[in-house]
Amino acid sequence: MTVRKIVKYGTPSLREKSKEVHKISKKVQILVDDLYDTLYAANGVGLAAPQIGENLRVFVIDVGMDAKTMNPITFINPKILKKEGAVNSYEGCLSFPEAYTNVRRYSYVKVKALDIKGRPFILEASEGSLLARAIQHEFDHLDGVLFIDHSRNRFEADKILTEKGLNPIDAKYLLEETELEEEIQKQPVQEEKKID
Ligand code: ZN
Repeated sequence: MTVRKIVKYGTPSLREKSKEVHKISKKVQILVDDLYDTLYAANGVGLAAPQIGENLRVFVIDVGMDAKTMNPITFINPKILKKEGAVNSYEGCLSFPEAYTNVRRYSYVKVKALDIKGRPFILEASEGSLLARAIQHEFDHLDGVLFIDHSRNRFEADKILTEKGLNPIDAKYLLEETELEEEIQKQPVQEEKKID
């Protein structure tokens, strides 16, 4: 049970693809405990193993807002089975202190993963929910993708990053998300809850 140091944006390992877990060993159990300890200490919604320096396909999410509504969910070797709809939201990341930018996401996802006991489960995250967005955000970390790669406005994102003393966007990582953007444009403007 340790609060680990969170790897910050600019560290090359955040851009690496993480490896599958082959066995839920004691080491993996400790990693998951440390992810939760670090997540709760930082008041975050989700945290992926590469963010504490372990390039393994593991992340944890808790969208509960306080001790009463705690809802920790552990995802090991996750696969996204289905994604639909589009949503626009402000996101942050514990690897990017205080920087929030406007990003594109699918509004619904269905994911399959193993829990800490190695049992497979399937989870559907409802349309536009914080959980649906958090799953996509954390899943991305396992492939070296960061939330700023989904930015809707590169110049606005660069301004925010620079203000926070972080490197601006590197164009080679920006994702072309034309279909998602078209979906978003069709929708009425809505305020989304921030996540990090
Ligand atoms: Zn993140």
